[in-house]
Amino acid sequence: MIPLALAASSDSEAPFVTRLAGSEGNGAGDSRCIASSSEESLWSGPHGLLRIEHPREAVSGDVVLVRPAEGRLDRLLRSGSRHNSLLVTEQCDQLCVMCSQPPKKTHDDRFDLLRDACLLADAGMTIGITGGEPTLHRERLLDMIEDVLAARPDLSFHVLTNAQHFRREDVFRLRRPEYVKVVWGVPLYSADPLTHDRIVGKIGAYERLIDGFAHLMLAGARIELRTVLTRTTVDGIVDLADMVARDLAHVEQWSLMGLENIGFARNRWSELHVDLRDGFEPVGHALDVATLRGVRARLFNVPLCHVPEPFRHAAVASISDWKQRFGEACSTCRARSACSGFFEWHPPALLEEVTPL
Ligand code: SF4
Repeated sequence: MIPLALAASSDSEAPFVTRLAGSEGNGAGDSRCIASSSEESLWSGPHGLLRIEHPREAVSGDVVLVRPAEGRLDRLLRSGSRHNSLLVTEQCDQLCVMCSQPPKKTHDDRFDLLRDACLLADAGMTIGITGGEPTLHRERLLDMIEDVLAARPDLSFHVLTNAQHFRREDVFRLRRPEYVKVVWGVPLYSADPLTHDRIVGKIGAYERLIDGFAHLMLAGARIELRTVLTRTTVDGIVDLADMVARDLAHVEQWSLMGLENIGFARNRWSELHVDLRDGFEPVGHALDVATLRGVRARLFNVPLCHVPEPFRHAAVASISDWKQRFGEACSTCRARSACSGFFEWHPPALLEEVTPL
């Protein structure tokens, strides 16, 4: 697993963002490496000296948030990685049965620091925004996105949201040209309102989500639908495919996502998990229904050898590099580079249940 938090100390007392720009960095916000060994590196920048308990090569190019009071830094944007996400809040107004990041009641507003980080990102980077529910802080979020894209039109955002906090009056704002660079990743778990509400732990969530889709559609927003595959969602997946193809055919993609064994799902694994090696038929049917009716449908977080051959073209190597893991038997597999593999926290006993291709 790639470490995202590192021990660090600094001259500064307040948290700050900087880009670890190697030895030649001289842009505003850059820190320059002035010494490095196999165990630590010393950096100099606008906030003074920064000592990191990690060698220079491993972090060079990263944009980091330094938190001196806690003696650590967070690698917010790792240079060269396709998997960079910023957690903007841990608050959420849902309580999904499979939530991988259980919510907290408090909110630590870091939007200004996160905006500074985005401004230092590698050229052309897509930055993920996650929570909690980011749009609980809708004004702060939209201000940050607009500020960043005004200064850095080369960047783009992918925002995970339950889409229930957009209002009619947001439509005009979301039509602004910057939002062409923003994709909204929106979970939808069932065509049946009560089932969706039960999964997300919120009465009325489905109805509010449908209103949210209407606002996003009126704004011409780019939408990726997301459905986590659990026993309940797989039971209704063909009906959901029909609804998506009928009512939401404008979405850019419908992503069917393998379950993560973390957060609330860890204690409910046996109740929620579907082994797609035995239970793929309804998922394959749903992929066919969507595809035949013009909706791009993809499978995320599912190892290629767990997917029947005719559907492997739809499986994306989607698990982020820092939390991706393979079984020992995978070392002989010719499809490994195209395979999602497993999450780092996948049940170890299941890691070797693979069939090298
Ligand atoms: S054997 Fe491993 S690398 Fe190959 S498809 Fe299966 S999980 Fe992926």
